[in-house]
Amino acid sequence: MIMESEISFIDSHCHLDAPEFDLDRDDVVARSRAAGVARWVVPAVTAATFAKTAAMQQQYGAEIAFGLHPIYEAQHRDEHLVRLRQQLDLGLAIAVGEIGLDFYLPELSADRQIHFFEAQLKIARDYDLPVIVHIRRSQDQVLKYLRKWQVRGGIAHAFNGSEQQAEQFIKLGFCLGFGGALTYSGSQRIRRLAQTLPLEALVLETDAPDIQPSWLAGPPKLRNEPAELLPIAQELAQLRNIDLTTLAVSCAENTRRVLNINI
Ligand SMILES: [Zn+2]
Repeated sequence: MIMESEISFIDSHCHLDAPEFDLDRDDVVARSRAAGVARWVVPAVTAATFAKTAAMQQQYGAEIAFGLHPIYEAQHRDEHLVRLRQQLDLGLAIAVGEIGLDFYLPELSADRQIHFFEAQLKIARDYDLPVIVHIRRSQDQVLKYLRKWQVRGGIAHAFNGSEQQAEQFIKLGFCLGFGGALTYSGSQRIRRLAQTLPLEALVLETDAPDIQPSWLAGPPKLRNEPAELLPIAQELAQLRNIDLTTLAVSCAENTRRVLNINI
């Protein structure tokens, strides 16, 4: 009988470098390791924090990705795309991310988001790297640009689309990221997809400190952290009626496959 703590998970998307963790990051990482979540993929969000993202690799052995996140479009400048190439030249990043489009927040400029998204898809193609894409209310548009730029696949983070959209991402070489959103009994579509999509298409993620699982939703809303991947995975295993080890092994393998890494 395998103890749950012996199962090894990969959190395929967490912002361990976020300011929310500045005061107790070592403790957060220790709790994560104790829960069996000892591998993390940390995508950057702005050029200003590339060094902090890189430090997650030096300090904790996290896998890192560099990119300009769509919700910070107002901060991005064209010279940051040059900085992005310089970071990728170092050969430390496994993907370009977090990039994408967010059409949920009305204050964001769609044109600027598309400008930086396309520029970064071109960079991902130039470097032959997978991408980690943010797709909130923008799945069809993201799919359109992925087809246009023909990148090598990656992860559709926080997937919340239809079965048809899921199939299109899968066809383009993507896995779909599932996390805290599936722990809400009201999230029927996400739960149904998490239950019925092929296991080879799923990766586990927390998006910590965001996308709280139901038990942290509050009020007050509590900080999410990578250790929560364990109870999220337990809920997904239950939904799919498979054992936790099978889920952990498959999702870790899927993460390795789409990100082309060996961790
Ligand atoms: Zn994120």
